[in-house]
Amino acid sequence: MATLEFLGAIRQVTGSCYLIQTDSARVLLECGLIQGENHSRSIEQGIFGFDAKSIDAVIISHAHLDHSGLLPRLIREGYRGEIFVTTPTADLLDIMLKDAAFLQQKDNEWENRRRARAGEQPVEPLYELQDVEQVLAQLNPLGYAERVDVLAGVELCYRDAGHIIGSAIVEIWISESGATRKLVFSGDLGNNCSPLLRDPEVVAEADMLLLESTYGDRDHRLMENTIDEFSAILDTAMQKGGNVYIPSFAVGRTQDLLYRLGRFHREGRLPQQKIFLDSPMATSVSAVYLKYSKLYNHDDPEFNQSIKNGWNSWLPMLTFTRSTEESMALNMISGGAIIIAGSGMCTGGRIRHHLKHNLWNNKNHLVFVGFQARGTTGRAIVDGAQKINLMGNEIAVRAQVHTLGGFSAHAGQQQLLQWAGNFKQKPTLYLVHGELEKMLVLQKQFMAVHNWYANIPEPGERVQI
Ligand code: ZN
Repeated sequence: MATLEFLGAIRQVTGSCYLIQTDSARVLLECGLIQGENHSRSIEQGIFGFDAKSIDAVIISHAHLDHSGLLPRLIREGYRGEIFVTTPTADLLDIMLKDAAFLQQKDNEWENRRRARAGEQPVEPLYELQDVEQVLAQLNPLGYAERVDVLAGVELCYRDAGHIIGSAIVEIWISESGATRKLVFSGDLGNNCSPLLRDPEVVAEADMLLLESTYGDRDHRLMENTIDEFSAILDTAMQKGGNVYIPSFAVGRTQDLLYRLGRFHREGRLPQQKIFLDSPMATSVSAVYLKYSKLYNHDDPEFNQSIKNGWNSWLPMLTFTRSTEESMALNMISGGAIIIAGSGMCTGGRIRHHLKHNLWNNKNHLVFVGFQARGTTGRAIVDGAQKINLMGNEIAVRAQVHTLGGFSAHAGQQQLLQWAGNFKQKPTLYLVHGELEKMLVLQKQFMAVHNWYANIPEPGERVQI
């Protein structure tokens, strides 16, 4: 009898990892990085709770690092099998894992300098560029709706999850002793209001469902309200003479923002004439978005026409800043600009430099457009911290802080309930990828709306499929 073990993203939103064990195979579903964790400590304790060499196949839902970011570590620990992804995910992993390896290496150097000063032994990096190259060599990219054999008795099909480009709902069929059971993993489900991507595809059959619950406790504000709120923030910032800083995930949110700003421009609602995408990674990812524009929802013909000639055709005042010098030069701009930079939760990247130089100034605006996980700098600011620590400096939070819910790349509560409501017969349901309080709210709603019991697994729990 096949089993599934809940190894990661259990009662939290990062570190997605599930292990499927059949009679003859071990399949790893997701290999995500736990964000905000001290990896040098976890290396010493063993990153995975299993032997990487014992895994026969790996299936990844989408390119976000909390779903894919430990792949190079799995390789480093000896995994040599196939890694199933969608085609756009393969392109994104090339960019994102290389960037992650670079950051790991820098973190490792820093940690080892600290250890040397403290008279401690150095630690190895979580992974290096050569491990990423090996991941890329082991990828097996698939299109949506392509049903393939992963191993004998295990079949896979990806469905569009509408969360980021290439994101997938994962259908897995497991055949053992003449019977077939079907597991569906929602992956991260997109917000139906996404301006670029399609709605999550309907799946109607499963024996077991793993459902993400990032926003299990609430609905997003209506997109129209978010758009008006965003427009009002841009107006106020322009009048007060400050800049607008937007911490943004390189993949998905940034492209949604570029779309929205271009729409504002065309509607005469964009006062700022200087917009900077200050993230080399987001710039590369935006190019991947152009490559797969056939996967968009095509709701806006003007955009679809314009984007064929690149992002600048859609948003002429957009500048892509690549070098560190160009990025630093942005600190000379005292007002009238919109600066989009990573990371989305302000845990790293160029946004931290911008915050250090600009967060103390009440003329400026800081706009959050995505989920802020517990323990991150972004969450501290959203929760009302008066001061934060950035690169050893205490910085007062005086800028106007806003959170725009409608830009979320995750389905809200109603959307989760609705999507799961498409199953003809209720599968056994497990809530994953969410903080416990949010899961509890969603669990209640599943009972109230669908009379359906939603299990909340414990970390490490193993269940029959
Ligand atoms: Zn995601």
